[in-house]
Amino acid sequence: MKNTKWLCGIGTLAVCSMLVGCGSNEVTTGSENVAIDETEIVEIVDDTETVCEHEWVDASCVEPKHCGVCGEIEGEPLEHTLTEANYQQASVCEVCGEIVGEPLQAEFKNYNLECNAELDTTYPFVIPCYDTSEYETAGKITFSDYDVFESDEAHEALDGYEWRAVTVTLVFDDENAYNYGYSGFTPLSTDYYHNYSETYNENEDTYTINYNGTDYTDVKEDGETLQNGWNNDIYTYQLRASFRVPKGYDGIVLTIVRYNSETWDDNAPITDKADEDTVFFRLK
Ligand SMILES: [Zn+2]
Ligand SMILES: [Zn+2]
Repeated sequence: MKNTKWLCGIGTLAVCSMLVGCGSNEVTTGSENVAIDETEIVEIVDDTETVCEHEWVDASCVEPKHCGVCGEIEGEPLEHTLTEANYQQASVCEVCGEIVGEPLQAEFKNYNLECNAELDTTYPFVIPCYDTSEYETAGKITFSDYDVFESDEAHEALDGYEWRAVTVTLVFDDENAYNYGYSGFTPLSTDYYHNYSETYNENEDTYTINYNGTDYTDVKEDGETLQNGWNNDIYTYQLRASFRVPKGYDGIVLTIVRYNSETWDDNAPITDKADEDTVFFRLK
């Protein structure tokens, strides 16, 4: 009896070591059989051995800080590095090139003014007569001979600039003008995008216009009166207006408005100088 028990003991031990040795996938615990998947055990061990030694890539405006090996992310992308918007271009990110928003809105758009004058088309220019405001004279205004050129005898060339010129003609040829005269008018240049008159440089007789984000400080205006007077009962005023502007610049606007020396304010906005009949020619 004793021997049998001992043998039994040996027998049990032998079976146990055999189980471990051959990696059997069945272990007996009590009366339950628990299955163990050998491959699963191996995988878990592998994972702990290959923890990523992150190689961090700095955040940019395109991507957050991230590991170049495993792709793990930390934090958020950076803000864009934006250029200032101007009248031609929206803000652009200097790093990734993304365009953000819109170009600045042109002042003429803000004012709801249109540059509606076409070349060689006659528009009414109705103003009170000179002797009595009881009567009006129905003048006519025309823009013609629009030209873009580098230079001519009277207009000096400058690198990065070009000249844009147009002729405006105002005629009073009705009886009221002949009998009672015409009240004041004045030619007026302004800008579709932004009134540049405050940039006037007295010493150089120049203006500054920002175009595509660059300040052009050598903008010039030049006016030549071609006609100004009565001839055969018809009064004609004719001006050749020339502007030296950055190459490709399309913002200069020319018009003639009513003029009253008592109420005229040079610094008043264009909306105060123009009225609903004013026609604007844009040199574009
Ligand atoms: Zn990593
Ligand atoms: Zn960016």
